[in-house]
Amino acid sequence: MKKILNYIGGKLLPPASEKWLENINPATGEVYSLIPDSDEREIEAAYTAAKNAFPSWSTTAVQDRFHIMMRIVAGIEKRFDELALAESIDNGKPLWLSKRVDIPRAADNFRFYAQAITQFSSELHDMGKSGLNYTLRRPLGVVGAISPWNLPLYLFTWKIAPAIAAGNTVIAKPSEVTPMTAFLLSEICIEAGLPSGVLNIVHGTGPKVGEPMVVHPDIPAISFTGSTAVGRRIAVLTAPMFKKLSLEMGGKNPNIIFADAEYDQAVKGSVRAAFTNQGQICLCGSRILVEKSIFDRFVADFVKETLTYTVGDPLKDTTRVGAIVSKTQLEKDLAYIEIAKAEGGNILCGGKIPDNIPPALVGGYYLEPTVITGLAYDCRVNQEEIFGPIVTIMPFETEEEALKIANSTLYGLSATVWTTHLKRAHTFAEKLHSGIVWVNDWLVRDLRTPFGGMKHSGVGREGGEDALRFFTEEKNIFIRL
Ligand code: NAD
Repeated sequence: MKKILNYIGGKLLPPASEKWLENINPATGEVYSLIPDSDEREIEAAYTAAKNAFPSWSTTAVQDRFHIMMRIVAGIEKRFDELALAESIDNGKPLWLSKRVDIPRAADNFRFYAQAITQFSSELHDMGKSGLNYTLRRPLGVVGAISPWNLPLYLFTWKIAPAIAAGNTVIAKPSEVTPMTAFLLSEICIEAGLPSGVLNIVHGTGPKVGEPMVVHPDIPAISFTGSTAVGRRIAVLTAPMFKKLSLEMGGKNPNIIFADAEYDQAVKGSVRAAFTNQGQICLCGSRILVEKSIFDRFVADFVKETLTYTVGDPLKDTTRVGAIVSKTQLEKDLAYIEIAKAEGGNILCGGKIPDNIPPALVGGYYLEPTVITGLAYDCRVNQEEIFGPIVTIMPFETEEEALKIANSTLYGLSATVWTTHLKRAHTFAEKLHSGIVWVNDWLVRDLRTPFGGMKHSGVGREGGEDALRFFTEEKNIFIRL
């Protein structure tokens, strides 16, 4: 069986514990590779390697960092098909989606930050006769990156690329649920000639690998993407250590359709926002709010469109909804469907494991896209993050009511508004408690803009210059002339 290895100090290494975790293909439920069950020994070895690499990497000219990072881009592009297949098998997502979104974006992340660092500047304020006051930005040292399973290589590289571009050395931990593309990235970095120790990838569980990294006294910054529960734990553990933290966490995103919306676009866009990647994107619109005058028609058409989403083999081009990432997540999804029933919800479609899964895949984790109505906005199903192909649809009568429902959760990651009313598009977007608002579209973003959530969805911002600033310390220097 294929063994995934840690990448420490430029070498691919087995875990000191000699213990391995099983990596399961969610499309079949079968174990298809083994993952190092690493612990604090690997974090310490990775720290030493990263510390030793820092003096040289942090003083490497930005043009040289640019060239090395562009060789990583070339490596990702060269192994594109292999990476896309690995991502689909690890995660259960349709292969076409890995090819269209995840892997191109991983290459883009390195390309974007390779270029961005060559444009990153400091400000100098000329204070006339008094002197000069300028901002000096320097890398932080050895930094930590922790990522989740839903967009494995995409989110992993979204942290690593700005960190190394800014001159830091990195210890990165991918999700133990989807480790394969991170392992392939280790090989690509070696082939690209990334100096040893600049990036170290340690595989294993959150408690045994993530936590020793988080509490390591000499790692000054942690960039985390994952659940709010784990983000909260990281915040608690690091508060007395005054670490720099970027926390990108859960969401319960509202998708609001006004009666004046371009109707067909709103129906199709809302179904796509609900079920892409099996509803396992932090930005998926899982609470759908529809103006009462079009509610019945919209619900009927939403269900009709949902039923065109074929569930099944992630490797088939015709599959719109692949496998749920793990048995644990499938059980969580099914439990929420039971909660919805107990809370008085009407299951309009889905709500169960499909009965037409081919024999070779019956051990896999599949769930029909599920649409629920009849639930109060403040019930559990409408307040807690599920992170699966399950959405609720609720009516609203006024803009104020829509806003109250939209802003009613602890989360504040993203929101989508469908309207042709120009003034409303601006004023309503401004009042939503969400870090990102789309009007008449979903999941479109310029990489130069800040990304992140409000309330329990996030602290700090990723993307664009914000990520480079996160991974640098700023010093204000005044010189009297
Ligand atoms: P998770 O919080 O369970 O795990 C995320 C990562 O943290 C994994 O690598 C895990 O091993 C690690 N981890 C777990 N316990 C840890 C600990 N005690 N200390 C340090 N690290 C630990 O999240 P998940 O289930 O992998 O991902 C799904 C969640 O991620 C959802 O809540 C989703 O909304 C969120 N997410 C947010 C964004 C965003 O940008 N806001 C993007 C994608 C996913």
